[in-house]
Amino acid sequence: MSNEPSIFSRIIAREIPADVVFESDSIIAITDIAPKAPVHVLVIPKTESYSNVTELAAGDPALLAEMVGVAQRIATEKSNGEFRLVFNTGASAGQSVFHVHAHVLSGALTEGSLAD
Ligand code: 5GP
Repeated sequence: MSNEPSIFSRIIAREIPADVVFESDSIIAITDIAPKAPVHVLVIPKTESYSNVTELAAGDPALLAEMVGVAQRIATEKSNGEFRLVFNTGASAGQSVFHVHAHVLSGALTEGSLAD
């Protein structure tokens, strides 16, 4: 695995611009650059310690629960409070950034609008 900072770490460091919709000490949430739904936000822990949700669940379940809370808050603020939460886990499952993140998808979803 690369030792380079992930694209998300560079966004957290403000080296790359992003539309930040939520930020706390531990989490940032940004609009996905290639939205697959009317609301498509990425909820990203600031720590670089976990590359996927399985590692996060084992290492810091409280932070995973915090991510779910942020997802709910975003869906409530930007849509009708209902949402799909997607964690692509592994390249063959569509994961392209190996810094754990959740896709929050909301608003007029269709069966085809998975974050792939
Ligand atoms: P994954 O494929 O790893 O589950 O999700 C990575 C997501 O990050 C993709 O949906 C992709 O569109 C998004 N993404 C990649 N680079 C950037 C970027 O520079 N800015 C933003 N806002 N999203 C990005």
